[in-house]
Amino acid sequence: MQAIQVSQVGGPEVLTAVDLPVPSPKSNEAVIQIKAAGVNFIDVYFREGRYPAQLPFVNGQEGAGVVKEIGSDVTTLQPGDRVAYTSALGSYAEYAAVPASRLVKIPDELDFEEAAAAMLQGMTAHYLLYSSYKLQSGETALIHAAAGGVGLLLVQMAKKIGARVIGTAGTHDKAQLARDAGADECIVYTESDFEVETKRLTDGNGVHVVYDGVGKATFDRDLDVLRPRGYLVLFGGSSGAVPPFDLIKLSQKGSLFITRPTLGHYTATREELEWRANDVLQMIVRGDLKLRIHKTYPLAEAAQAHRDLEGRKTTGKLLLIP
Ligand code: NDP
Repeated sequence: MQAIQVSQVGGPEVLTAVDLPVPSPKSNEAVIQIKAAGVNFIDVYFREGRYPAQLPFVNGQEGAGVVKEIGSDVTTLQPGDRVAYTSALGSYAEYAAVPASRLVKIPDELDFEEAAAAMLQGMTAHYLLYSSYKLQSGETALIHAAAGGVGLLLVQMAKKIGARVIGTAGTHDKAQLARDAGADECIVYTESDFEVETKRLTDGNGVHVVYDGVGKATFDRDLDVLRPRGYLVLFGGSSGAVPPFDLIKLSQKGSLFITRPTLGHYTATREELEWRANDVLQMIVRGDLKLRIHKTYPLAEAAQAHRDLEGRKTTGKLLLIP
């Protein structure tokens, strides 16, 4: 089978198309024929070595496809089932062996591309808004990179909750997309200082919560746009990792809270995974959550997909099609 392997960490060029044997399932696994694989920023971190993995590895954390074979202990699935998953390495491939406990069935109304686009970024938006900081109707949230994959989903879900949403985006076109998704305001933070603008838009009061997946470039000013006892949910670093931080600043800037969550800890049990996945998939079925698929690439063009994602050229979801 064709797969995109990383045998040494580095830039997009280390994503190499190789021919590997089709995997066999362990007793708790199912082998999935991948119909669509999601591209996510976490794949960049793995490729760069920012998140370590044993080399060589097949990249990719998200996929949708058809069950081809099940391990001897698997009772919940059968060959032919349409399934989707996230948080298991190896989806940039024609086949992947995945623990059955990570797989969820795709509703009949959704196709493989929609399911692959929904799992990682959709469940991330869900846990950030419903669990990391439980956003309430009437509160104000600042959402960075609001036209990105996670960003567009965060904006829509935050509006459904009834919050006021201020987004940020790198270009005017992206800002318009964020507004189309429901953002009340969107600051072009490459041109205007988002700290000044956020304070202006909140009459100097600041926001209740910042959802920040940009990291290094935005972190310091996040602390200045929060109201006292506000919450910074730092969930990624697309601009780079945040350097070590002196906790006394949290006191000085208003008894603030910071959390640095990750999806795995918010989908750790089967019950929690099913709750979030079903919530997200049903929101899409009902039309309450719109997916924006930026582009689908042939599997062999994974490196180009990474270049586009890292180059800030994308809005919404990128998919690889084996
Ligand atoms: P996006 O589609 O949001 O792409 C990243 C965006 O970050 C860019 O489009 C760009 O938007 C913005 N950005 C700002 N500065 C830079 C920079 N220097 N280089 C590149 N991009 C920059 O990606 P995803 O939706 O896949 O992921 C968003 C973030 O969420 C990532 O940090 C990712 O790691 C994180 N994440 C965390 C999870 C968790 O559980 N903790 C789970 C899923 C994702 P603009 O041009 O508008 O600034």
